[in-house]
Amino acid sequence: MAQVVGRFAPTPSGQLHLGNLFCSLIAWLAAKSQGGKILLRNEDLDVERSRPEYALQAQRDLEALGLFWDEGGDCSGPHAPYDQSQRFPFYRTQLERLENQGLVYPCFCSRAQLHAASAPHASDGETIYAGTCRGLSPQEVEERSKTRAPALRLQVPEETIAFTDLHYGPQQQYLPTGCGDFILRRSDGVYAYQLAVVADDGAMGVTQVVRGRDLLSSTPRQILLYRLLGWPVPEFGHTPLLLAPGGRRLSKRDGDQCLSGLLEKGLTPRDVVGRLAFLAGLVEEPCPITPEELLPRFSWDKLPQEDVVVPAGLFPGIG
Ligand code: GLU
Repeated sequence: MAQVVGRFAPTPSGQLHLGNLFCSLIAWLAAKSQGGKILLRNEDLDVERSRPEYALQAQRDLEALGLFWDEGGDCSGPHAPYDQSQRFPFYRTQLERLENQGLVYPCFCSRAQLHAASAPHASDGETIYAGTCRGLSPQEVEERSKTRAPALRLQVPEETIAFTDLHYGPQQQYLPTGCGDFILRRSDGVYAYQLAVVADDGAMGVTQVVRGRDLLSSTPRQILLYRLLGWPVPEFGHTPLLLAPGGRRLSKRDGDQCLSGLLEKGLTPRDVVGRLAFLAGLVEEPCPITPEELLPRFSWDKLPQEDVVVPAGLFPGIG
């Protein structure tokens, strides 16, 4: 069987928080326990929100925990560049491939119009585009382009996409009501995460995508993009999210528990890995351990299905 290629894909909009570290540990264990390798890609697509110092800090944090990668970051590799901000010409060619299939249309809707015309998504508050601009004539497009730069959307087919998640099992989504026509490039020219992540994972030969459960509902539209672009579809494994003791989602913006803060409070990297492994159900007690030592203990079925509330007192400063 071909070698497993997993990846870390942090967005450098803040320091990695405990939930990002938890997910990175599982991604590393999932790939390495199968003799695989890991690449690291810096997802700085949104240049305004990204900072190079956070990208560097993410590398130092992963290294400090013993989550070494084989390609990307400051080791570079055969698929360079590994910074999404450097890959816009590549995304343009991928977008053109979709345009050539007649599947892309310009959307001139303002934020307010989108808000008014969209039906709320049942599961996670995401909104489904009502298709307002799908039927514009070439004349209307030309007229509107004079006053407004359009976003570009993919017209999704009336199709159900099914896949089996390594952790959450069989999943399916009927695209028109599950995701609707989604954005490939924003009106300011920034390529959408959905397009960039598929194009990059495809071109970089990623075979295993491990990431937080919050992206489970994006997976069917990404599988559609893999098919349309002709890249092999990787396997997907989503992880439960870590929640602060009150049940709140962790967020980079709130400065929740970054590694440097935990080390300053006296924890060692092995303490942090041991506590994360405990939350993942891989060890019975939160004792110091290295990722390497966890390898024989890793299996997806030990991980909880539900999101994990971090018990008060497990990490100093949380709870
Ligand atoms: N860059 C995304 C994040 O930091 C991860 C995207 C992915 O894993 O597909 O949340």
